Amino acid sequence: MKKFLVLSFISFVLFSSCKSTTLMKKKEYTSKKLSIKQETSINTKLLKIYFPSFITKDDSSKKERVVWGDGILVILPDNKVIMVDCFDSEGSEKLISFLKSLGITKIDYFFASHNHMDHIGNVPNLLTEFSIEHYYWNGVHFNSHGDKVITETLENNNIETTILKQGDSIIVSQEPLCRLEVLWPNLTEKDIYNAFYNPGKTEKLKNNTSLVFKLIYNDFSILFTGDIYKEVEKKLIKKYGKELNSTILKVPHHGESYKSNSFSFVKSVNAEYSILQDPQYVNILLKSIYKLGKSKLLYNISEKCILVTSDGQSYSINNFTF
Ligand SMILES: [Zn+2]
Repeated sequence: MKKFLVLSFISFVLFSSCKSTTLMKKKEYTSKKLSIKQETSINTKLLKIYFPSFITKDDSSKKERVVWGDGILVILPDNKVIMVDCFDSEGSEKLISFLKSLGITKIDYFFASHNHMDHIGNVPNLLTEFSIEHYYWNGVHFNSHGDKVITETLENNNIETTILKQGDSIIVSQEPLCRLEVLWPNLTEKDIYNAFYNPGKTEKLKNNTSLVFKLIYNDFSILFTGDIYKEVEKKLIKKYGKELNSTILKVPHHGESYKSNSFSFVKSVNAEYSILQDPQYVNILLKSIYKLGKSKLLYNISEKCILVTSDGQSYSINNFTF
């Protein structure tokens, strides 16, 4: 049995201007449509991906800004819960109350893209309120206080951890089937050593250890990219080519456009929408790259959440205030 849903406009910060968008059926979508009906099966098991943005007061400037980092919540079609990163600890209270408001009591799978604190700084805070059943990471330690704190916290809480690398595949939901393919990292011993000691005094080596993985639910897919730089983007294009194609792209490295987000990568992923949470690097160059690559760039500059919902065939995007 089918029903039609007509949904109201939702405002996004979209490329070049503020446009409105609404739930859409992938095949029916055209960029000029502002209101589209969506056909949805009543009993469909949905994949839901939340990209929340929280506001905080900057310590030095005292101005309000979006909390730094990535923190994405995924509810699988079988209702298991994934977190991909969890922001810097400055957003802890808001993140915890956001998760509670959605009825989250435990995190089944945590995926840490890499050991920078704007991605995993909230792990100890999350563990005061929720259990983490399994922690997946890239296996690369950084020589930092934050890294030590997270490592100790995971050990003290007896969290099961698994190191992921290129070629790994995980069935995250059995019924309906939802799988995760790991595309990166593929690091040498030297890469791992250099990421720890940071001899070049650059963050590049560390960011390039980020987990890159694709979450696939039938025809729908989303590519998570951590903070990879152009070097890794190039390697991924060379190895995977068209297999990088995804419905949605999590924009690499918060939209930094000089070191990350090459045009060829955006073209290769060919995502209809590209989403980021922490717009500190967003500039004209980034917008131009995504416009030329025909991928709509979405992000929030206020306390809102971009929600992507899919039944495995069609998908919808919504932006809500919480
Ligand atoms: Zn980052």
